[in-house]
Amino acid sequence: MIELFDTHAHFEGGAGETAALLERAFAEGVTRVAAIGGSERLNAGVALAAALSSEHSGPAGGYPVVYKALGWDRDQIGRDLPDLDFTGVSAVGEIGLDYHYSPETRLAQMELMGRQLEQAARLSLPVIIHTREADDDTLGLLREIPSRGIIHSFTGSPGFCRQLLDLGFYISISGIVTFRAADNVRETALVIPDDRLLIETDTPYLAPVPKRGTANEPAFVAHTAAFLARLRGTSLEDLARLATANALEVFG
Ligand SMILES: [Zn+2]
Repeated sequence: MIELFDTHAHFEGGAGETAALLERAFAEGVTRVAAIGGSERLNAGVALAAALSSEHSGPAGGYPVVYKALGWDRDQIGRDLPDLDFTGVSAVGEIGLDYHYSPETRLAQMELMGRQLEQAARLSLPVIIHTREADDDTLGLLREIPSRGIIHSFTGSPGFCRQLLDLGFYISISGIVTFRAADNVRETALVIPDDRLLIETDTPYLAPVPKRGTANEPAFVAHTAAFLARLRGTSLEDLARLATANALEVFG
């Protein structure tokens, strides 16, 4: 049986909707999902998904196991950010830098990311990092504050990817790899060695072909996995096995 691990999903809906997403994922062989925070709303979604999963997971439960990541993303600049409770949490995130949408808050983004990298190091937790048009500052912070974890929905160049691999990071590929215009992501997806590759949905965004244009959900990670297996010239079984083993290394 193929077991997939969606390493990045956000849950923004209520209990009924979140339960339905988890059930459909499990029916498609998605036995593990990392629920990712970043705002007050997303952090609450993490708690909800984890609570539903712990009621129903296990061989007969019909739900994936949910791993929790909590943090504050770059859109939280200027808000009052309470301390988070990391009891039972597997990662800090998502955190990171986005100069495509908000170049004007560059310094504040770096400060917020740096503070959470230090917190993750203190807690010995991996980090989930978003980086867009911020290659140099991302590398600078990761060199300054030794960290481990995942660069999520990677869309950077092969060169940037190699530098992140040198720092020990795992690289997670989203449904963008299936988009017609995403030759650069396909090129980068071929650079990632077997022992550093992860797959994700970034639910509810970035639904892969053939679901493009709909709300994404963890079940659709199966499409991205099948696409990546063809791209890398391997079987779906082998790709799923290695990506799931890698994700378990990160989330423990
Ligand atoms: Zn995300």
